Amino acid sequence: MRIDIISIFPQFFDCLDVSLMGKARSSGLLQTHVWDLRDWTQDVHRTVDRAPAGGGAGMVMKPDVWGKAIDQVIEQAGAAKTVLAIPTPSGIPLTQSQVRDLAENTEHLVVACGRYEGIDQRVGQYYQQNTEVQVLPFSLGDYVLNGGEVAAVALVEATCRLLEGFVGNPNSLVEESYELSGLLEYPAYTQPATWRGLEIPPVLLSGDHQKVKKWRRQQSLMLTAERRPDLIWKLAPDVLVKSDREILAARGFLPAPYRQQVRFRRAQPGETVTCSAIASRLFPQACPKDLPEEAIACFIEDELSEAAFKAYLDDPNNLIILVEVAPVTQTGTDDTAWETAGYTLIEAGAPGFLPPEENLMQSGGKNCAYLSKCYLDACWHGSGLAGAMLEVSHAYLQESFPHLTKICLGTNRENRQALKFYRHHGYRKCGRRTFLVGGIENLDVIAVRDFTACQVPSWAQNVAQ
Ligand code: SAM
Repeated sequence: MRIDIISIFPQFFDCLDVSLMGKARSSGLLQTHVWDLRDWTQDVHRTVDRAPAGGGAGMVMKPDVWGKAIDQVIEQAGAAKTVLAIPTPSGIPLTQSQVRDLAENTEHLVVACGRYEGIDQRVGQYYQQNTEVQVLPFSLGDYVLNGGEVAAVALVEATCRLLEGFVGNPNSLVEESYELSGLLEYPAYTQPATWRGLEIPPVLLSGDHQKVKKWRRQQSLMLTAERRPDLIWKLAPDVLVKSDREILAARGFLPAPYRQQVRFRRAQPGETVTCSAIASRLFPQACPKDLPEEAIACFIEDELSEAAFKAYLDDPNNLIILVEVAPVTQTGTDDTAWETAGYTLIEAGAPGFLPPEENLMQSGGKNCAYLSKCYLDACWHGSGLAGAMLEVSHAYLQESFPHLTKICLGTNRENRQALKFYRHHGYRKCGRRTFLVGGIENLDVIAVRDFTACQVPSWAQNVAQ
């Protein structure tokens, strides 16, 4: 690749002789030429700028000087196609995919470094008309530098390190931020294991490669969700697996194809209408097909009415977690856009609390909470929201009732999907019970999760609104 950089401060580019860039230049992988724009001036003062047409502060760089310089370097390179990169704060923000495209497809790159108020607009406009030149007005970010030199170095370095043969181990480029996964890279650590009281996360010293890989993926997802939500919304659906989606849902994102924001909150006393409405709407979706409608209606009236939820909400030993979704917007979400998508009801309680059914008492023991309800609208199945809702509910439970070390539940023994879901989230079968829906007996499997053996994941913690 040949690179020509034109600037009124050519000495700025001495840095290109350093480190890997210097090596690439001396090995011939890269041909860089740095030019002084003033060499194309014709007056004694070597003038490159004039006052802006129309008045105003500052000076503008003259198109005639720039034109001569660019024409000459293009002619000298003799390439079939040239990319003319013009750094400017009003350019398109530079991205990894752009520099990858440059590294893979460009034979000749010219960087025109502006100063003062920038280069006369007609320079870019003129070369845009030339089919052998591609004009790339690019910005380093939403801030203003004194000149294009820093931006030129950034562009050249980001592009050149992707050239084949530039870095010793090309694998080191694959996992980087903005690369294949579209996520920010996970944090890196090295010895010593303890430095100024700060530890390397133990998993990285465990030698368990699978665990390390899982931890790094979680960190990448959480970091990107926290710092660069814009990248999360741009993720292609096929780069995410279910466990990724659960993490992102817990952090507030249902990326493509769902494209919804998520929030979790504890229902407040008085929210009987909201709770009863979502519970009554979702209960029939989860019932066995052969359960008569009257039995379902009867259960809703007895157990899921506003009066029933008043009793649940008035009891401080109950936790009701609501999951709400709203479409992603550019402009911020108003409060009316949030819709309830699901909920959990956990019966916890004072020390010594025992869940109501005798079988559950035996399976769970004294330090056990009871996941009485866990329902999500079927339209979100597959989005990761169910797993997020469950783990976030566990996190709320631990925060509010830290003495409880277990949680148990009962679910219809025919409901294979639910059984698989709970097994995946650390629940282990430990008994059976009979569960009445409108007077009709249903056989349930009882399962328990022990938080000491299967901890609440870090991504589900600190989610509370
Ligand atoms: N008046 C210009 C504006 O407000 O858009 C700013 C001119 S700036 C002081 C001078 C030069 O610095 C620009 O022509 C450009 O080459 C470079 N520059 C400044 N900020 C930049 C950024 N964020 N990205 C790329 N180049 C930048």
